[in-house]
Amino acid sequence: MDKKVRVRFAPSPTGPLHIGGVRTALYNYLFAKKNNGTFILRIEDTDQTRYVEGAEQYILDALAWAGMKSDEGIDSGGDYGPYRQSERKDLYKKYAEELVEKGHAYYAFDTPEELEDMRKRLRDSGVPSPQYNGTSREYMKNSLTLSADEIDKLLKEGVRHVIRIKVPRKEEVRVKDIIRGWVVFHSSQLDDKVIFKGDGMPTYHLANVVDDYLMKISHVIRGEEWLPSTPIHVLLYKYLGWEDVMPEFAHLPLILRPDGKGKLSKRDGDLLGIPVYPINWTDPETNETNIGYKETGFFPEAFVNILAFLGWNPGTEQEVFKMSELIEAFTIERIGKSGAKFDYDKAKWFNQQYLKTRDDADLAEDFKKILDEKGVEYEQSFVLEVCRLMKDRITFVSELWELGTYFFKAPTKYDEAVLNKKWKEELNPIFEEVISGFKALDKFDHDPIENLFKDILEKAELGLGAVLPVMRLMLSGMKFGPGVFEIAALLGKDETISRMETALQSFKMIKA
Ligand code: GLU
Repeated sequence: MDKKVRVRFAPSPTGPLHIGGVRTALYNYLFAKKNNGTFILRIEDTDQTRYVEGAEQYILDALAWAGMKSDEGIDSGGDYGPYRQSERKDLYKKYAEELVEKGHAYYAFDTPEELEDMRKRLRDSGVPSPQYNGTSREYMKNSLTLSADEIDKLLKEGVRHVIRIKVPRKEEVRVKDIIRGWVVFHSSQLDDKVIFKGDGMPTYHLANVVDDYLMKISHVIRGEEWLPSTPIHVLLYKYLGWEDVMPEFAHLPLILRPDGKGKLSKRDGDLLGIPVYPINWTDPETNETNIGYKETGFFPEAFVNILAFLGWNPGTEQEVFKMSELIEAFTIERIGKSGAKFDYDKAKWFNQQYLKTRDDADLAEDFKKILDEKGVEYEQSFVLEVCRLMKDRITFVSELWELGTYFFKAPTKYDEAVLNKKWKEELNPIFEEVISGFKALDKFDHDPIENLFKDILEKAELGLGAVLPVMRLMLSGMKFGPGVFEIAALLGKDETISRMETALQSFKMIKA
């Protein structure tokens, strides 16, 4: 790549970042790192009516958790700051005025009532979505229709007004998108967007273009929902004389619901029980907390891997990628055009892959936090062993406790289906014999336990399938789990025997 890569993630602090937002950040990050470029974090907060308390901090926390540190931005400074648009607000006006002077923008003095009248009139005459555009602007109250004296007077009186871009009437506006190729818009589809507001703030369109220019952004990588705004941006670059340094555009495909029907929204997430936020978000108004990927138990590495595959693929069979491998493999050209279906089972599969490769010792550290919370006493070596046994059977660390409580506490309940199907009074003497055998064992390890058990079954001409599930029930109360003899060995002789004796009593009572 010949030009210096400078990309930005430019969220508006209007709420928590959705996974789509974090994916945009990730693709920018990967592209920057891959090309020895700069990843910039800019906050677009010019719309103060949509500002949400805590949203900016949330963005920082979410990016930090996912492992994306900006090179420049609100959190790391840089030569092109400030990186928060509200702190740059004095900078935009001159560009809006320049556009007015050049005849590419105009003052509009229409009151909200006048705007509403216009829309109503157009709707009444059969226009489904009325706009302030090349046609309607001709009979509105603006600097195109008023005389120079009238305009002067209004400006001097300080009458509240906005500045609108003057979209040409019959022109094609072509947008070159790296993912989609040429996308052609006809100017009749575009409205005269407000670029500068009555409150002295630029709108998104102007601030975004001006900042991308001043911050020397080379590539704009953002969600597909911004594609319809891009022709306005292209016109702004042209009218401001910045066409030569206009960034390249790449619009990312939507993230769809698992059934492919529509964009994955917070509502769908709630309905399907799928987290849609990276980390917990507590709504400052309702105080309601939405659970994030982090708190669900996803590893940040897995989360990043999941996001990377929502719209991109490496073109090989490999699926598990660390951040460094993603950086290595990433290209914009391998991003797809069509929506990426979100598959939560696949997301969990990724987490499992990372969990499997984690050291038992690391896993044990996480698990110990849970055990401490539960007030459970433990020995380090025991916890390590539980991790080793359970690791291949779980998706989240929390399941070590949910599916493995019995390692720390004798079961108080037994899986009813197994009990009803497998336990029979006639098995009692067998288990009593096993208990005596266990008592006599010198080394209570996996192999001697297994040999003893199998010998007894063989003599009694019983199959493993008839007896082992009951033995598992005695030790764990559960239908599934790691090898029964491994569980017994880990619990130790006394505990194993005690659980078996308790179970023999309980089974009789439950079945009686
Ligand atoms: N502020 C916009 C947003 O919230 C940024 C869009 C863009 O990247 O241009 O997504």
